[in-house]
Amino acid sequence: MTLQPASTCTFRLLDGFQRRDLLLEDALIGGAWIGAQDDARFAVTNPADGARLAQVADCGPAEAIAALDAAVKAGPAWRRTTPQARRQILKRWHGLLMANQDDLARLISLEQGKPLAEAAGEVAYGAAYVDWFADEAIRGDGEILASPVLDRQMTAVREPIGVVAVVTPWNFPIAMIARKIAPALAAGCTVVGKPAEDTPLSALAIARLAQEAGVPDGVLNMLPASRLRGAALVGVWLDEECVRKLSFTGSTATGKFLAERSAPTLKRLSLELGGNAPFLVFDDADLDVAIRGALAAKFRNAGQTCVSPNRFLVQAGVHDAFVARLADAAASLKVGTADEAGVQIGPLINDKAVQKVEAHIQDAIARGARVVQGGARHPLGGSFFQPTVLVGMDPDMRASCEETFGPVVSVTRFETEAEAVTLANATPFGLAAYLFTADRKRIARVGAALESGMVGVNEGAISSEVAPFGGVKQSGYGREGSRHGLIEYQTLKYICEGGLD
Ligand code: NAP
Repeated sequence: MTLQPASTCTFRLLDGFQRRDLLLEDALIGGAWIGAQDDARFAVTNPADGARLAQVADCGPAEAIAALDAAVKAGPAWRRTTPQARRQILKRWHGLLMANQDDLARLISLEQGKPLAEAAGEVAYGAAYVDWFADEAIRGDGEILASPVLDRQMTAVREPIGVVAVVTPWNFPIAMIARKIAPALAAGCTVVGKPAEDTPLSALAIARLAQEAGVPDGVLNMLPASRLRGAALVGVWLDEECVRKLSFTGSTATGKFLAERSAPTLKRLSLELGGNAPFLVFDDADLDVAIRGALAAKFRNAGQTCVSPNRFLVQAGVHDAFVARLADAAASLKVGTADEAGVQIGPLINDKAVQKVEAHIQDAIARGARVVQGGARHPLGGSFFQPTVLVGMDPDMRASCEETFGPVVSVTRFETEAEAVTLANATPFGLAAYLFTADRKRIARVGAALESGMVGVNEGAISSEVAPFGGVKQSGYGREGSRHGLIEYQTLKYICEGGLD
C-alpha cells in the first residue's frame, strides 16, 4: 500500500520533527487522506500561547457516511483475517508508535500542553495497549460446553461485534484512542473514530502509522471535526444500525446523551466517564509515600485526568503535617511550556478550563475554605495556573461535587474510618479511589467498602495495560485493558450441532 502524500501543511512549530509526514490535517477515510467535501477546516491551537498549529479538515455527516461505508465494506475481509495476522499488524503498529515516540510526544505537547516527558510517557502508555491487545488477539478462545444431550455438540465462540464508533477526549489524545482501536482491531472489528476538537493531530498521526503497519484501507477511519460539526457527525454513526458498538471516553453528561442516542439501535456501549476520586490518608500512613502518591496522581497533566484525586480526605492526626508537606511540594513544582527543561505542569487546555478552576476555588473560599498554596492564575498568563492547596473543604462545595480538572488539591479533615468511607462514597461517581495506610486489615476493609472501579493502595499511579480500567456508578461501564478488554469488542455465539449419533 502506498501512502497518499499529506495535505499542504500549515504547521508553524515544526522544528525538531523527524517525520513531517506525521503532521496531518486531513481525515483518513477508506485509506485516503481527504478534506471535508465542502473544504471546511478548523484551527488547532497550542494551549500554551494560542498559536495556530494547523487547519484541520472539519468533517460532518457526509464524511461520517463515507467513513461508515468504508468500514462496512472492509469488515468481511478484516474479520476473516487470522488472529495471528492481526497480531502481527498490531505488533508492527506498536513498533512504529515507539519508533516515533519523540515526534508523537511533540504533537501531544503542542496541541494539548503537557510537558514533553509526560507526553512521551503517554505515547508509551498508549502503545502498551497496542502491544497488549496484539497478544490478546490470539487468545480469543471459545468454549466447548458439556452437552446434556448425547448427540449434540455445543460450543460458544467469540466473534467480532462489527463496526465500532470511537469518540475520545483531549486530555490523553493518543492513549485514549489507542486503547479503543487496539482491542477493536484485535477482535476483528472495523473502526470509525472522532478525536476531540482540541487534539486531532496526534490521532491522525497514529492513524497514519497504523496504515503503515498494514491496517488495510477502510479498517480504520479517523475523522477530525470541530465542536460545531462533531455532534452531527457522531449522530450519523449513532443512528445507523450497522454501527454495532460505541466506545466513548469523556464526560458523564456527554456519555448519558450518547447512550440515549444509541438506545434506538441498541448498540453495545463502553462508557469511560468522569470521576470524582477520593484520596484517603490515614493517621498510620507513611507520609513520604502519601505525598509521593499525591503528587503523581494529582499533578499529572496539570490535574486534567479522569483518575485525578478530586477530594483529599486526611485523618486529623496527620492532617496538618500532610497539608504542610504537600503545599511545600506543590510550591516547588515547575510550571511552564512543554519543551522547557524540568517543567512539571503545563497550561490547562483552554480558558474555559481555567475559569472552572477559578470558580471552584472562589466557591470554596466563599463557603469557608482557606488557600494554603497558590489559588490563582500563574504569572506566565494564558491558561497556566498555580498548583493550589485548599483546606477546610466540605462535601457541599462545588470542588467536592464536580471534577475540578485542574492542579488543585482540596483537603477535608476526618476523624474516623467510617466517616472517611462515607465521605469517599458520597458521590454519584466511582472511577478511581486512593487509600494510604500501613494497616493491612484497614486496606482490606476500606478497599472493599469504596464504591469505585479502581483502587490505588499506597500508590498514586495505577493505570496499566494489564489492568481493567473503568468505573462504576455514573463513571460508566465497560473495561479497557487487561484480558477483559477484548471481550468488549466481541459477541458470544452459541452453536448447537445436533444429530451426531
Ligand atoms: P466531553 O466534552 O464529553 O468530550 C469527549 C468527546 O465527545 C470529544 O470528542 C467531544 O468532541 C465529543 N462530544 C462532546 N459532545 C458531543 C455530542 N453531543 N455528540 C457527539 N460527540 C460529542 O469530555 P472532555 O471535556 O473532552 O473530556 C473530559 C472528561 O472526560 C472528564 O469528565 C474526564 O473525567 C473524562 N475522561 C474519562 C476517562 C475514563 O477513562 N473514564 C478518561 C479520560 C477522560 P469535542 O472535542 O468537539 O467537544
